[in-house]
Amino acid sequence: MRPKFPVPVEHLLASLNKLPGVGPKTALRYMYAILRWQNQDRAGLASALLELNATLLVCAKCHTLSDVNPCSICADGKRDATTVCMVAEPQDLLAIESTGMYTGRYYVLGAVISPLDGVRPEDLHTRPLLDRIATEGIREIILAFDPDAEGETTTLFLTKLLKTQPVIISRLGRGIPVGGDLEYADTMTLTDALAGRKIL
Ligand SMILES: [Zn+2]
Repeated sequence: MRPKFPVPVEHLLASLNKLPGVGPKTALRYMYAILRWQNQDRAGLASALLELNATLLVCAKCHTLSDVNPCSICADGKRDATTVCMVAEPQDLLAIESTGMYTGRYYVLGAVISPLDGVRPEDLHTRPLLDRIATEGIREIILAFDPDAEGETTTLFLTKLLKTQPVIISRLGRGIPVGGDLEYADTMTLTDALAGRKIL
Protein backbone atom coordinates (compact mmCIF):
# COMPACT_ATOMS: atom_id res chain seq x y z
CA MET A 1 0.00 0.00 0.00
CA ARG A 2 1.34 3.41 -0.93
CA PRO A 3 0.67 6.45 1.24
CA LYS A 4 -2.28 8.74 0.49
CA PHE A 5 -1.10 12.00 -1.00
CA PRO A 6 -2.81 15.41 -0.82
CA VAL A 7 -5.88 15.53 -3.09
CA PRO A 8 -4.25 17.52 -5.97
CA VAL A 9 -1.36 15.04 -6.07
CA GLU A 10 -3.82 12.11 -6.16
CA HIS A 11 -5.54 13.79 -9.12
CA LEU A 12 -2.21 14.10 -10.93
CA LEU A 13 -1.42 10.42 -10.24
CA ALA A 14 -4.80 9.33 -11.59
CA SER A 15 -4.17 11.30 -14.81
CA LEU A 16 -0.64 9.94 -15.26
CA ASN A 17 -1.96 6.40 -14.77
CA LYS A 18 -4.09 6.81 -17.91
CA LEU A 19 -1.00 7.07 -20.13
CA PRO A 20 -0.10 3.90 -22.03
CA GLY A 21 2.66 1.86 -20.42
CA VAL A 22 2.49 3.88 -17.19
CA GLY A 23 1.77 1.62 -14.24
CA PRO A 24 1.50 2.76 -10.61
CA LYS A 25 5.31 2.80 -10.09
CA THR A 26 6.06 4.86 -13.20
CA ALA A 27 3.17 7.21 -12.36
CA LEU A 28 4.78 7.82 -8.96
CA ARG A 29 8.15 8.50 -10.61
CA TYR A 30 6.59 11.06 -12.99
CA MET A 31 4.60 12.58 -10.14
CA TYR A 32 7.74 13.13 -8.01
CA ALA A 33 9.50 14.63 -11.05
CA ILE A 34 6.63 17.05 -11.66
CA LEU A 35 6.59 17.99 -7.97
CA ARG A 36 10.27 18.96 -8.27
CA TRP A 37 9.55 21.24 -11.26
CA GLN A 38 9.44 25.01 -10.99
CA ASN A 39 5.95 26.53 -10.91
CA GLN A 40 6.45 27.96 -14.40
CA ASP A 41 7.23 24.51 -15.88
CA ARG A 42 4.07 23.05 -14.34
CA ALA A 43 2.10 26.00 -15.70
CA GLY A 44 3.67 25.34 -19.12
CA LEU A 45 2.48 21.71 -19.14
CA ALA A 46 -0.97 22.74 -17.91
CA SER A 47 -1.38 25.43 -20.55
CA ALA A 48 -0.14 23.07 -23.32
CA LEU A 49 -2.88 20.63 -22.30
CA LEU A 50 -5.51 23.37 -22.14
CA GLU A 51 -4.41 24.62 -25.56
CA LEU A 52 -5.14 21.14 -26.92
CA ASN A 53 -8.66 21.36 -25.51
CA ALA A 54 -9.14 24.78 -27.07
CA THR A 55 -7.69 24.15 -30.53
CA LEU A 56 -7.61 20.43 -31.31
CA LEU A 57 -10.41 19.17 -33.51
CA VAL A 58 -11.23 16.30 -35.79
CA CYS A 59 -11.13 17.01 -39.52
CA ALA A 60 -14.70 16.57 -40.75
CA LYS A 61 -13.48 14.94 -43.95
CA CYS A 62 -10.70 12.49 -43.04
CA HIS A 63 -11.20 12.41 -39.24
CA THR A 64 -7.58 13.00 -38.35
CA LEU A 65 -6.61 15.34 -35.51
CA SER A 66 -5.95 18.88 -36.63
CA ASP A 67 -6.15 22.50 -35.52
CA VAL A 68 -7.97 23.49 -38.70
CA ASN A 69 -11.02 22.04 -40.44
CA PRO A 70 -10.63 20.68 -43.06
CA CYS A 71 -7.08 19.61 -42.18
CA SER A 72 -4.14 20.79 -44.29
CA ILE A 73 -4.06 17.50 -46.25
CA CYS A 74 -7.76 17.58 -47.15
CA ALA A 75 -7.49 21.28 -48.02
CA ASP A 76 -4.46 20.77 -50.29
CA GLY A 77 -5.77 20.95 -53.87
CA LYS A 78 -2.48 19.56 -55.22
CA ARG A 79 -3.05 16.15 -53.58
CA ASP A 80 -4.57 13.31 -55.57
CA ALA A 81 -8.23 13.18 -54.57
CA THR A 82 -8.82 9.90 -56.41
CA THR A 83 -6.69 7.84 -54.01
CA VAL A 84 -7.61 7.45 -50.36
CA CYS A 85 -5.47 5.63 -47.82
CA MET A 86 -7.46 4.19 -44.95
CA VAL A 87 -5.70 3.94 -41.59
CA ALA A 88 -6.72 3.12 -38.02
CA GLU A 89 -5.32 6.12 -36.12
CA PRO A 90 -3.89 9.60 -36.80
CA GLN A 91 -0.39 8.34 -35.90
CA ASP A 92 -0.59 5.86 -38.81
CA LEU A 93 -1.41 8.78 -41.14
CA LEU A 94 1.67 10.61 -39.82
CA ALA A 95 3.83 7.51 -40.41
CA ILE A 96 2.72 7.35 -44.05
CA GLU A 97 3.15 11.11 -44.46
CA SER A 98 6.72 10.78 -43.16
CA THR A 99 7.63 8.73 -46.24
CA GLY A 100 6.98 11.83 -48.36
CA MET A 101 5.96 9.43 -51.16
CA TYR A 102 2.20 9.37 -50.74
CA THR A 103 0.30 12.13 -52.52
CA GLY A 104 -3.28 10.94 -52.04
CA ARG A 105 -5.75 11.66 -49.28
CA TYR A 106 -6.71 9.76 -46.12
CA TYR A 107 -9.54 8.37 -44.09
CA VAL A 108 -8.87 7.72 -40.40
CA LEU A 109 -11.18 4.98 -39.18
CA GLY A 110 -10.45 5.64 -35.49
CA ALA A 111 -10.60 1.96 -34.54
CA VAL A 112 -10.12 -1.58 -35.78
CA ILE A 113 -12.37 -4.57 -35.19
CA SER A 114 -11.39 -5.98 -31.80
CA PRO A 115 -13.70 -8.34 -29.89
CA LEU A 116 -11.49 -7.93 -26.80
CA ASP A 117 -12.04 -4.15 -26.80
CA GLY A 118 -15.71 -4.53 -27.71
CA VAL A 119 -15.29 -3.05 -31.22
CA ARG A 120 -17.58 -4.88 -33.66
CA PRO A 121 -17.68 -4.44 -37.45
CA GLU A 122 -20.89 -2.41 -37.13
CA ASP A 123 -19.12 -0.02 -34.74
CA LEU A 124 -16.71 1.18 -37.45
CA HIS A 125 -17.53 4.58 -38.94
CA THR A 126 -17.61 3.56 -42.58
CA ARG A 127 -20.64 5.59 -43.68
CA PRO A 128 -18.71 8.88 -44.25
CA LEU A 129 -16.23 7.00 -46.44
CA LEU A 130 -19.03 5.50 -48.54
CA ASP A 131 -20.43 9.02 -48.93
CA ARG A 132 -17.02 10.26 -50.09
CA ILE A 133 -16.80 7.45 -52.66
CA ALA A 134 -20.20 8.48 -54.00
CA THR A 135 -19.33 12.17 -54.30
CA GLU A 136 -15.55 12.63 -54.74
CA GLY A 137 -14.60 10.45 -57.70
CA ILE A 138 -12.39 8.21 -55.57
CA ARG A 139 -10.80 5.47 -57.68
CA GLU A 140 -8.61 3.58 -55.23
CA ILE A 141 -8.83 2.83 -51.52
CA ILE A 142 -5.61 1.62 -49.92
CA LEU A 143 -6.20 -0.38 -46.73
CA ALA A 144 -3.23 0.33 -44.45
CA PHE A 145 -3.75 -1.42 -41.13
CA ASP A 146 -1.26 -3.06 -38.77
CA PRO A 147 -0.46 -6.63 -39.87
CA ASP A 148 -1.93 -8.17 -36.72
CA ALA A 149 -5.15 -10.10 -36.00
CA GLU A 150 -7.28 -6.96 -35.55
CA GLY A 151 -5.82 -5.29 -38.64
CA GLU A 152 -6.38 -8.41 -40.77
CA THR A 153 -9.98 -8.82 -39.57
CA THR A 154 -10.63 -5.16 -40.37
CA THR A 155 -9.01 -5.46 -43.82
CA LEU A 156 -11.16 -8.52 -44.58
CA PHE A 157 -14.34 -6.79 -43.44
CA LEU A 158 -13.63 -3.60 -45.40
CA THR A 159 -12.70 -5.57 -48.52
CA LYS A 160 -16.12 -7.23 -48.43
CA LEU A 161 -17.87 -3.94 -47.71
CA LEU A 162 -16.07 -2.03 -50.47
CA LYS A 163 -16.42 -4.78 -53.09
CA THR A 164 -19.85 -3.35 -53.89
CA GLN A 165 -18.33 0.08 -54.58
CA PRO A 166 -16.88 1.30 -57.89
CA VAL A 167 -13.31 1.48 -56.50
CA ILE A 168 -10.08 -0.51 -56.65
CA ILE A 169 -9.25 -1.89 -53.22
CA SER A 170 -5.59 -2.46 -52.37
CA ARG A 171 -3.55 -3.22 -49.29
CA LEU A 172 0.03 -2.48 -48.28
CA GLY A 173 2.61 -4.87 -49.68
CA ARG A 174 4.89 -7.02 -47.56
CA GLY A 175 7.63 -5.58 -45.41
CA ILE A 176 6.04 -4.63 -42.11
CA PRO A 177 6.58 -7.68 -39.88
CA VAL A 178 3.51 -9.67 -38.83
CA GLY A 179 2.28 -8.34 -35.49
CA GLY A 180 4.22 -5.12 -36.12
CA ASP A 181 3.02 -1.54 -35.85
CA LEU A 182 2.60 0.69 -38.88
CA GLU A 183 3.45 3.77 -36.84
CA TYR A 184 6.84 2.33 -35.82
CA ALA A 185 7.78 1.00 -39.26
CA ASP A 186 10.79 2.77 -40.78
CA THR A 187 10.31 5.10 -43.74
CA MET A 188 12.02 2.75 -46.22
CA THR A 189 9.78 -0.20 -45.25
CA LEU A 190 6.63 1.92 -45.47
CA THR A 191 7.66 3.38 -48.82
CA ASP A 192 8.20 -0.17 -50.17
CA ALA A 193 4.90 -1.39 -48.69
CA LEU A 194 3.08 1.51 -50.37
CA ALA A 195 4.78 1.07 -53.73
CA GLY A 196 4.26 -2.70 -53.63
CA ARG A 197 0.63 -2.55 -52.67
CA LYS A 198 -1.58 -5.43 -53.77
CA ILE A 199 -4.92 -5.12 -55.46
CA LEU A 200 -7.56 -7.14 -53.59
ZN1 LIG B 1 -8.62 15.92 -43.28
